[in-house]
Amino acid sequence: MVQLPLGGGCQCGGLRYEIRQPPLMVYNCHCTNCQKIGGGAFSTPVTVFEVGFAFTKGEPQTFEWTSDAGNRRFGWYCRDCGIRIAHGQIPSNGVLSVRAGTLDDTSWVEPVGDIWLRSAQPWVPPSADRLRAEQGPPDYTPYIERFLAQGRFGG
Ligand SMILES: [Zn+2]
Ligand SMILES: [Zn+2]
Repeated sequence: MVQLPLGGGCQCGGLRYEIRQPPLMVYNCHCTNCQKIGGGAFSTPVTVFEVGFAFTKGEPQTFEWTSDAGNRRFGWYCRDCGIRIAHGQIPSNGVLSVRAGTLDDTSWVEPVGDIWLRSAQPWVPPSADRLRAEQGPPDYTPYIERFLAQGRFGG
């Protein structure tokens, strides 16, 4: 089982964070913003409770944009190396999307689904055995249930 807290940080080490509660889910997002932000085909957000997330070193800079679903979003990034650490909604919906690649230990990460497939790039075809959504799913319950079933953080 994975031990909490989960640690992570940016590329230069100026920002460090801790996740102190079990994540809700991990999936791949193929929306156009995630492609720009990561410079790749998709991003892999780890959804965590906002109250269970804290920066332990450094102060993030903030950038805001409008998501493909039309929601106002913000991103925290490092002023020195530019790495994006996490995204959230304005006003808050209680959760943050932490970018999986910024974790110290990514060995437990196994995305349960692929969302925003309507803008997916053909370079990396999504796995057929994951949940699929053409846009943002209206209900993430199946994603949460499938992540829980992985048992990474206990029952
Ligand atoms: Zn940095
Ligand atoms: Zn996205």
